[in-house]
Amino acid sequence: MNRLVSVSSKEDIFPENRNTSVGLLLEYHNLNIEYEPYAQAQLLIGMCMDNRKHLHIPDNFAFIIRAGGANLRYSEFKVSYAIAVGGVKSIALIGHNQCGMVNLVARKELFIKGLIENAGWEPELAEQHFMNFAPMFEIGNEVDFVLSEAKRLRLRYPKIQVVPLMYKVEDNLLYQVKED
Ligand SMILES: [Zn+2]
Repeated sequence: MNRLVSVSSKEDIFPENRNTSVGLLLEYHNLNIEYEPYAQAQLLIGMCMDNRKHLHIPDNFAFIIRAGGANLRYSEFKVSYAIAVGGVKSIALIGHNQCGMVNLVARKELFIKGLIENAGWEPELAEQHFMNFAPMFEIGNEVDFVLSEAKRLRLRYPKIQVVPLMYKVEDNLLYQVKED
């Protein structure tokens, strides 16, 4: 978490992001600048499904794909659509601390018991489901993951600006992430 850089004024925004749609996202969410009207999406935001997170952005400002851990590996067609048809040139990838997609194996029993009790699944099927999918959705460490996912997306979409960000659930603010 010591790679995080706070944004409490426009000058705090990394120069490469300032005056881009990602810089605007930081200004709307962290600095509460006045909303502008938008006729079309300015960027794509990838963020976790976690219920503790809510972005302060104007209507029409962004496409948003929500997936556990801000993991877009299984949302590629939607990412491609936002770029190809939606015309966005930037992706803000927003990880967050205390993410449920970290150390999934620690919640294996809870997951299986919950599927059985809450959804009516058979125990064997619930266990298989966890074992099949947990490795795909495990992200390891929130900050490391958002950085590696940003690198992967840059290789996949070389003309697109991809910026890793972190959301802290304690203060509901976005943070920039120092990359190597
Ligand atoms: Zn999460």
